[in-house]
Amino acid sequence: MNVYDSSRIADMLKQNGYIETIKQEEADIVLFNTCHIREKAAEKLFSDLGRAHLIQLERAEQGKTTIIGVAGCVVQAEDEQIVKRSPFVDFGPLMYHTIPAILQRIKQNRKQNAEIHTDFPADSKFDYLPENKAQGACSYLAIQEGCNNFCTYCVVPYTRGVEYSRPIADVLTEARRLVDTGTLEINLLGQNVNSYHGEDENGKERDLAYLLHRIAEIDGLKRIRYTTSYPADMTDDLIACHKDIDILMPYLHLPIQSGSDKILKAMNRRHNSSDYLNIIEKLYKANPNIGMSSDFIVGFPGETDADFQQTLDVVNKVQYIQAFSFKYSRRPGTPAAVMENQIEEKVKKERLEILQTLLFSYQDKFNQSCIGKTMPVLLEQKGRHKGQLIGRTPYMQNLHVETKSDNINKIINVAVTAATTNSLSGKEA
Ligand code: SAM
Ligand code: SF4
Repeated sequence: MNVYDSSRIADMLKQNGYIETIKQEEADIVLFNTCHIREKAAEKLFSDLGRAHLIQLERAEQGKTTIIGVAGCVVQAEDEQIVKRSPFVDFGPLMYHTIPAILQRIKQNRKQNAEIHTDFPADSKFDYLPENKAQGACSYLAIQEGCNNFCTYCVVPYTRGVEYSRPIADVLTEARRLVDTGTLEINLLGQNVNSYHGEDENGKERDLAYLLHRIAEIDGLKRIRYTTSYPADMTDDLIACHKDIDILMPYLHLPIQSGSDKILKAMNRRHNSSDYLNIIEKLYKANPNIGMSSDFIVGFPGETDADFQQTLDVVNKVQYIQAFSFKYSRRPGTPAAVMENQIEEKVKKERLEILQTLLFSYQDKFNQSCIGKTMPVLLEQKGRHKGQLIGRTPYMQNLHVETKSDNINKIINVAVTAATTNSLSGKEA
């Protein structure tokens, strides 16, 4: 979502006459887009800001002004802190459409005072953003934002606000434009993308299954994905899409977080481990080739060795082809941050290592099982070696192949010849 937001901010600035540079010394405006989900991401911002401030001072000695801005969830969550620690212009994730106007005002006044914009506006920012064009052969399209679930560890409901779904017509217009400008694969985004409930052209509320069918009708679109899904919102209609829509990729990221029902309850998740495993069984019935991915949190308050073992049990049952796992991070203002029985850092670290070793073993097993198969690969970028391109398989694996450079942004068939835990390589078939 942050990659999408950053590209939309860049689109707006380009429309206002700015050009992008990767050298901070050249930049009249430096914007940081931030994540608050775990403590580490938030901390990184303050060291990056320190460096940007030094460059701002050096440029000032040459008579150049530098505007520094911070956007995203850190601003929303730590508004008082951030003004104290970063006296710049700061925007919450729902306010970034106002960036060009505010920059314009600052430039006219030739002065930057600390200011902060963290409202939850009544109108959606999407109504104010410029037209979204292809970000490459794969493009993100945000269809839903915010969350009403209030998992006890998570900042999202506080930083991104309540759930909002964009109307069907807006999503379809944007999807068509992405395809017309070169996109072959669209990844629909939302914090809880499968709780999507946008209004259709007749004012009727429609769900993600309906939207997927409509998007699949777009001529020229070759692949659809959606992320991130909440288990309790996996309806039968949505599961059926994995059978009925051939351009829906056979890969689903469906976070369980923990295999222990006691911990899931303390996390305020609306599913237990058997609900989750039942959904996966239905998905496999709909499409036996589907590959599963998940998020896991280890060391949530009160997690015992037995609870953690239940997480490992789920991993052994599902045999994920990819997964993301994190140590529980105490986020200020969330209910879990003040729970008793916080888990020692050392234990969290040990559990994460055990979990990741197991997850990587299944990822590796899946990648090895691809050797000898031919897979369609969407080539997205140049590789490190001459004549090499890198693309993605239907299962989101990175694949390296030697092929002509004008195959970039195309889908070609590749016979897989080698695999590591993190990537595949092969020959054009
Ligand atoms: N909505 C999705 C769901 O419910 O599964 C997840 C979206 S959340 C933005 C991304 C992931 O960050 C979560 O699945 C969770 O594993 C992780 N996460 C969120 N808060 C966390 C915390 N306090 N500590 C560690 N990981 C956290
Ligand atoms: Fe956060 Fe996902 Fe829970 Fe919402 S459902 S509070 S985004 S983890």
